[in-house]
Amino acid sequence: MLAGVELGGSKCVCILGTGPDDIRAQVRVPTGESHATLAQIGGVLDSWQAAHPLQAIGIASFGPLDLHPGSRTYGHIISTVKPGWHGANIAELARARGVPLGLDTDVNGAALAEGRWGAAQGLDDFAYITVGTGIGVGLIVGGKTVLGCNHTELGHIRVVRCAEDSWPGACSFHGDCVEGLASAPAIAARTGLPPAEIAADSPVWDLVAHALGQLMHGLVLATAPRRILVGGGVAHGRPQLLAKVRRHLVDSLNGYLPLEELTGAIDRYIVPPGLGPLAGPLGALALAANAQAAKARAL
Ligand code: ZN
Repeated sequence: MLAGVELGGSKCVCILGTGPDDIRAQVRVPTGESHATLAQIGGVLDSWQAAHPLQAIGIASFGPLDLHPGSRTYGHIISTVKPGWHGANIAELARARGVPLGLDTDVNGAALAEGRWGAAQGLDDFAYITVGTGIGVGLIVGGKTVLGCNHTELGHIRVVRCAEDSWPGACSFHGDCVEGLASAPAIAARTGLPPAEIAADSPVWDLVAHALGQLMHGLVLATAPRRILVGGGVAHGRPQLLAKVRRHLVDSLNGYLPLEELTGAIDRYIVPPGLGPLAGPLGALALAANAQAAKARAL
């Protein structure tokens, strides 16, 4: 049996099972102060461990996180705008229970779940973009998430702005990075309305699609994904937004790459995720499955 924990900005989801067809339990914990929240999650894991031996725990978390196994602060949150979470030791959730840990960002976890069970099955190179409270990109290259000096944070890259748009953006670190232009809080700050209340024909969607198209322009040129999945609360149920994003990407690349994916097959290149709102919790379970497989290989 595997356990997963998705740590999110407003809620955490604990999940017990082995995959989408075998989910034994799900428990939601509101994200409050770090010590109390992690203690509550620990209580859920303890109750599960008492009933089923856990083979691994996967944690898919907001970040940025320290993901270098040799580091003194491995598994700590190293920078966040979320009060009280800076330096929080989330790896302790698994260490304290003596089980292997699979740890990655929430979006990398969701990408792994989409690769294992969802809309990116069979692909070794793809990206999963979530557009919601923040913008994150789960990036899979050669079948793995990318870890260099740190995990990637493509939601915060700076992009070329729409010529007529000089709004300063809403990211507290960068102003008009992609997250600062196209996340739910950015859209709300720009329009005064939450995204769910904004009409499909509002001009703001063109600005959002432009920023996302620019992000994809960079992604396509940097790692040549075979497919790009777009989910999250802002994108979910908005096929017209995806259609605009496809057009902005094609316009921005301007014929430079005459690939079938970017011409006739663009509707199959930029697609919604296959696991819907379960992508996040299942991401934590996919990380647990990877940790279990790594342990088995090491034995
Ligand atoms: Zn930013």
